[in-house]
Amino acid sequence: MRKQWVLGNWKMNGSRESNSHLISGLLAGLNAESSSGIGVCVPSVYLIEVGDKLAGSTVALGAQTISEHDEGAYTGEISAKMAVDCGCSLVLVGHSERRSLYGETSEIVAKKFKQALSNELTPVLCVGETLEQRESGITNEVIGEQLDAVIECCNSDELGRSIIAYEPVWAIGTGKTASAEQAQEVHAFIRNKLAQKSNALAEKISILYGGSVKADNAKEIFSMSDIDGGLVGGASLGAESFLAIYNSTDVIG
Ligand code: PEP
Repeated sequence: MRKQWVLGNWKMNGSRESNSHLISGLLAGLNAESSSGIGVCVPSVYLIEVGDKLAGSTVALGAQTISEHDEGAYTGEISAKMAVDCGCSLVLVGHSERRSLYGETSEIVAKKFKQALSNELTPVLCVGETLEQRESGITNEVIGEQLDAVIECCNSDELGRSIIAYEPVWAIGTGKTASAEQAQEVHAFIRNKLAQKSNALAEKISILYGGSVKADNAKEIFSMSDIDGGLVGGASLGAESFLAIYNSTDVIG
């Protein structure tokens, strides 16, 4: 059975005080018996403090991006090694906000993906189409190109150490969610594409859905056969809503 995950992406939100409140709430309400993975991807300045609060819990710590370079004169960036040094086991790569606002091409995203793997970080590769692309009927081409960039530079074992998140850009932070069937269709496309590399890889890899997942739609989305959990933005900023989504993974499998 594939590993199920619910990951929170805090984006550029929070403060030392609100983080502390959120983490206390999460730890107090967490079902430690669940076999599903849970993690939070937090702003880099808070990694160490949040990591300290999570120590000894089952909640994984993630960064929201890393540099594609090892080290050196890259002002403002953090390396994969630094993320590991701060306690991360996960990192988002290729989030649509990074692609659209910071010019990250699929080639750069693939370099970041490799950096994560070389440093024993699990990359969470985000892929997704814009509304315009969906309406032009090129969703599969767009996602295929985003996937090809990493498929071409990694072997099956490496790809098997990653997580994929399908996040339709038009559903991120908009309150519009893809229907469970729309999401399933793209997840199946992603899994079939990975099967061209290796059937074992396709069977094993967790593919999460992201885009306005909330406590009241998570169960339906997670019940689809190729959806292995969620990447959650807005609803991960409250302990109650995030835990309700996490607890919805019990419908999977
Ligand atoms: C995200 O940013 O990865 C995301 C899915 O955001 P939201 O849940 O707010 O749509």
